[in-house]
Amino acid sequence: MTEQHRLIPITSASHGVDIDLVYATDRNLTGKAIYRTAHCLLLEPAEAGLRRAVEIARGMGTTLRIFDAYRPPQAQQVLWDFLPDPTYIADLTRGSNHSRGTAIDLTLVDANGEALDMGTWFDAMTIESEHFHPDLPQHVQRNRLLLLGVMHAAGFTHIKSEWWHYELPGSRALPLIDNSESGPFRLM
Ligand SMILES: [Zn+2]
Repeated sequence: MTEQHRLIPITSASHGVDIDLVYATDRNLTGKAIYRTAHCLLLEPAEAGLRRAVEIARGMGTTLRIFDAYRPPQAQQVLWDFLPDPTYIADLTRGSNHSRGTAIDLTLVDANGEALDMGTWFDAMTIESEHFHPDLPQHVQRNRLLLLGVMHAAGFTHIKSEWWHYELPGSRALPLIDNSESGPFRLM
């Protein structure tokens, strides 16, 4: 890996975030742990954006809770094999921006540590996961717009299909990062 592709560890202590890497648990769409160790990593420019987002979220009394960040290409393969639907899972020839270290899945948590009601759970591969879905109640629309505002102000962009997913603009031009051999990620 070259210096410009450096992955930065994200921790609660260093970044003031909650971290719940669901792919290191069985609470994900596959029902099995995909990551053996729960290391949260982002590419340097995304890490800088996250720091901005943390400050903006803090200004309204909220904390960011991260569900996923860098994802090794092999983990992407596991997800694609489980759900080969390009609406929700980036196929392997295209690759996920998670595997470029520039995408992050997250929500907002209030001052009591309660996640804001976003209408669906993270990784709910349903139409209700789309931003601005008209059948969702107003408080859910507001909560999603709060997260959208925080992340856009911090320099991230959203995708239509998943309220929890944000990424740096132009991510597609960056290389996929295979960190699974030498890095902290080992797959089951
Ligand atoms: Zn994502």
